[in-house]
Amino acid sequence: IEDAKAAGIQYVYDDGTFGAARFDGSAPVLGLFEASHMQYEADRSGEPSLAEMTEAAIKALQGNENGFFLTVEAGRVDHANHAGNLARVVRDGVAFAEAVARADELTDDADTLIIVTADHEHAIAFSGYAGRGSDILGLSMKIDPAGTKALNEPNMAQDGKPYTTVTYLNGGGSILTEDQDWTGTRPTVSQEEATDLDYVQQALIPLSSETHSGEDVAIYAKGPFAHLMGGTVEQNYIFHVMHHAATAE
Ligand SMILES: [Zn+2]
Repeated sequence: IEDAKAAGIQYVYDDGTFGAARFDGSAPVLGLFEASHMQYEADRSGEPSLAEMTEAAIKALQGNENGFFLTVEAGRVDHANHAGNLARVVRDGVAFAEAVARADELTDDADTLIIVTADHEHAIAFSGYAGRGSDILGLSMKIDPAGTKALNEPNMAQDGKPYTTVTYLNGGGSILTEDQDWTGTRPTVSQEEATDLDYVQQALIPLSSETHSGEDVAIYAKGPFAHLMGGTVEQNYIFHVMHHAATAE
C-alpha cells in the first residue's frame, strides 16, 4: 500500500475513500476493502456495491483510446451456495444483475462486447412443482386449480412434511446428521424459518461445505462478435472470442 501511494496510485479502503477518489483515468486506483473477501450484499456496510465498483472501473478505463478489458466477479454468490444459504445467494445474484445493467448503461453495443457467464454450477436444485408465486426462499406451495397462482398451502412430501422451493443435493443442511448415526429424520420447516436470512436449505449428502457441480452454465453476450457465442462450447473458447474481439481491426 505504501509503495502504491508513493507511486501516485489512489488507495481506497471504504465508502468514504472510494467516494472521494477520482475515476477519470488520471491516476490508477487500488481498492482493498477487506483483509479477505468483501461482505455479502445482504450484510454490506461501509463498502461500495458491485455496481458502484463496476461504474467506477468503467469510468476510469473508458478514456483509453486503445479500449479496455474489465473483469467483474460476483464471487460471493459461490460462497453463499457453499454455505447452503439461499437468501444470501439470491441477494448477491441481484447485486450481480445490477452490476451488469450498470455496465450495459455505461457502454455502447457498437464498440463494447459484454459477456456474462459463470465458472461452474452448484449442487442446487429448483424443483418440486412450486406453484407460480411461491417465495423462492420459502416453502414450495400448491397451485390453485386454474394453475395460475400459488395457494398458501405447502406441497407435502411423503414424510408428511413441507419442503422448500430450492434445496441442495449436498452440504451443511443435510437431513442426515451425526447425532442420529447418519440415519436422519428430516426436520420439519416453517415458512418463517425458510425465509430467514440465515436459513440453510435442506440437503441430502452431508458435507461441511456444499460443492460445485458439472452442469453446463449459460454464456450471455452482446456487442461486437457476440454472434460467436452460442450452442455448447468448451470454456477456453470464451478466451478466444474475447481475444478476437479485442484485436480485430
Ligand atoms: Zn466455490
